[in-house]
Order: sequence, then structure tokens, then C-alpha cells
Amino acid sequence: ADGSNLSGARAQADEGAMAALRDAVALTAALRRALAEDALELRFQPVLPVGGGLPVGFEALVRWNDPERGSVSPAALVRAAEEAGMMAELGRWVLRRACQEARHWPAAVRLGVNISPLELMADGFGAAVAAILRDTGLPPERLLLEITEGMPLRLDGAVAENCRALQQLGVGLVLDDFGAGYCDLSYLRDLPLYAMKIDRLCLDLGEDERVLSTLRALVALAHGFGLRVVLEGIETAHHLALAREAGCDQVQGFHLGRPMVAAAVRRLLDGEAATADRAPSGAS
Ligand code: C2E
Ligand code: MG
Ligand code: MG
Ligand code: MG
Repeated sequence: ADGSNLSGARAQADEGAMAALRDAVALTAALRRALAEDALELRFQPVLPVGGGLPVGFEALVRWNDPERGSVSPAALVRAAEEAGMMAELGRWVLRRACQEARHWPAAVRLGVNISPLELMADGFGAAVAAILRDTGLPPERLLLEITEGMPLRLDGAVAENCRALQQLGVGLVLDDFGAGYCDLSYLRDLPLYAMKIDRLCLDLGEDERVLSTLRALVALAHGFGLRVVLEGIETAHHLALAREAGCDQVQGFHLGRPMVAAAVRRLLDGEAATADRAPSGAS
């Protein structure tokens, strides 16, 4: 706008800000309703050994199909919950639901649940996880909490306390999206981590040689800290070959398995158990 229209432009900007605020308030109200009505859903995506074989785990991913908005992306949903002070509530809903489901899986199959740094920074998170595990009966050592780096994690007293509680329970911590977040090396030093998930961005750095050298460096970094390495975003057989060549331990991606409904996971795991039963003894 030119000078003479400045106040008009300002009014328009105010209107835009107001509209954004109205949208955010409406989204929060809808999310609160969805949580109260149990209208959110979960999908589970398999995590596989890089050399092939049975799934070693499944990652729970939240889904929200709002009657007015259609499907809201998990990223938008989580951001809205964080901003509205509802992250603990959303996180606990997801954790409880996911643990209830994973309770039916074989002992060797772990459950990954994403948590926001806000949850790990909140007093009493460790105790809340312990209570949910107790209620649902999922053995703690089957649970992996994936710290998604949507915001920097302040490594303060509350985080240390929660980490101690989780470690004592036997719950594993996973550093998610490494390479696309804050990549703070002090996380590697100070958090009792079990694994690192390398972001799929690493597969998208250009020439194979560059992708491979980057992956190898990250694998060496993670292994140096004693961590297992999961590469996310395997969309092709070629991606899988790169993951193998770089020495990643586990893989996840659309090429290997899409996020699926709980019933499909159970069918898959039941089918595998049946196949294993029928295999001649001594077969690998
Ligand atoms: P994430 O934890 O890194 O989860 C992996 C995301 O990559 C998922 O997206 C998954 O559907 C997608 N993905 C899996 N394989 C492929 C692939 O081969 N190619 C591509 N392009 N994408 C693939 P989704 O479900 O949309 O979730 C996005 C992010 O939202 C998650 O990233 C996580 O940070 C967050 N999120 C999802 N569910 C939850 C939750 O329950 N709680 C919290 N705090 N965050 C969640
Ligand atoms: Mg994750
Ligand atoms: Mg990730
Ligand atoms: Mg990601």
C-alpha cells in the first residue's frame, strides 16, 4: 500500500491477524471436542531390520479427521495443541491408546510413540507414563518414546528428572528427525538415548555419494554413542540399498510399509506368527 493507504493496509493486516486468531481458537475448540469424544485415531507404521525380516516395532502416528476441516496434518495438530496448552492431554491420549493396542503384540515388537519436547519438559511426565503403562499392562521395556524436535529441548531439572524416571522404568528414548531439527550434540551427551532416527531429508541431499557419506557420518556418530540407527523415509528399493550400504540398523518408509490401522497390524503379526509355527524346525 502507498502512504495514503497506510491506515487501510494496517486495518487489513489487523483483520488478517484477527482471522488467524479466530481460526486458531476454533481449531483449539475442535481439538478439545475431538479429544473429549475420542474422535482422534492412530495409525501404526512398521520399523524393520535393514537386512530384512520381521518388524521390530511400529510407530504410532496420530490422525484427525475433523468433520469441518477434513484431515488435519499431525504437524498442524501438534502445533495447535502445543500453543493451546493441550499437548499433555493430546500426548496422554495417544500414549494410552497406543499402549492399549501394543499390549496385544508379541513381546519382541516394540511400540514407538512421538512426544513433544514440551511433554518431556513438564513436571510429572515420567510419573504419567508409569501410570499409563501400569493401567494398560504394557511392559515398559517395549515402549520407545521418540522426541520430535519441533522446538529446542531445554535440558533442565524437569527433563533430567523425567529421564531418570523413564530410565528406571526401562522405557527407551529415541532422538527423532536427526539432521532436520536442532541437532544439538548435548542431547547425545545428556539424554539416556536408545536410538537415533535419521530424518528422510538425508536421502534427499543429491548424488548417491553425498547421501552415502552423510549417512555414514551420522551412523558413526550414533554408533559412537552406542545408539541404534533408524533411517526414515525409505520410499524405494534404492533407498533401502543406501541404508544397507551406510550401515543403518533399521529402516522405516512407504516402500516397506505404510502407516496402517491397528487391525491390520494384528493381522500382519498373527500371520507372521502362524508362518513361523509352520516353518520346519531348524529353518532360519
Ligand atoms: P515422525 O515422527 O518423523 O514420523 C514419520 C512421518 O513420516 C509420518 O508422518 C509418516 O507418515 C511419514 N513417513 C513414513 N514413511 C515415509 C516415507 O517413506 N516417505 C515420506 N515422505 N513420509 C514418510 P505423519 O504421520 O504425517 O507425522 C508427521 C510428524 O508429526 C511426525 O514425524 C511427528 O513428528 C508428528 N507426530 C505424528 N503423530 C504424533 C503424535 O502422536 N504425537 C506427537 N507429539 N507428534 C506426532
Ligand atoms: Mg517419530
Ligand atoms: Mg521422524
Ligand atoms: Mg519426521
